[in-house]
Amino acid sequence: MKILDDVVVNAKSVASEIGKKAGKAFDLSKLRFSAADLSGEINKKYKALGKLVFLAKREGAQNDLEIENVMNEIEQLQDDLDAVNEEILLIRNKKVCPVCKKENPVDALFCNACGTPLSVPEEKTEEAEEAVEEVKEAAEEVCEKVEDAAQDAVEAVKDAADEILGE
Ligand SMILES: [Zn+2]
Repeated sequence: MKILDDVVVNAKSVASEIGKKAGKAFDLSKLRFSAADLSGEINKKYKALGKLVFLAKREGAQNDLEIENVMNEIEQLQDDLDAVNEEILLIRNKKVCPVCKKENPVDALFCNACGTPLSVPEEKTEEAEEAVEEVKEAAEEVCEKVEDAAQDAVEAVKDAADEILGE
């Protein structure tokens, strides 16, 4: 039953390949939600921070401790967001140059932008490449959303600052 065995083995490897791709897409969509959630949280914290600063400067509120706490929370959330973005990079098979911060293919020996030697992971399969192509588009969408959220946060801080300055 050699032929039948081969058919079964092939069917299994196809199923496992599909499973892996689905897994990657699922991981990426989870990460996308995490990144969006974290960006939203950071945005809220910046708004809260703006209000606390307003109260302190305009109404003399003694809220240094609260301000400090919110700033610590923002730092923590930003660390979490950085970690999520790192995961997204991994799934997209990219790595960031430690010197110039440009994205490079995960198997690049040198940075395409500045030529810094880069470390290469042990193995990279065809299968992984295909999966990456499939999720690449989704990942780029994620990055855009994160950038938008960051921009919103900056705007929120500017608005708060304008309010405080009475403009
Ligand atoms: Zn570089």
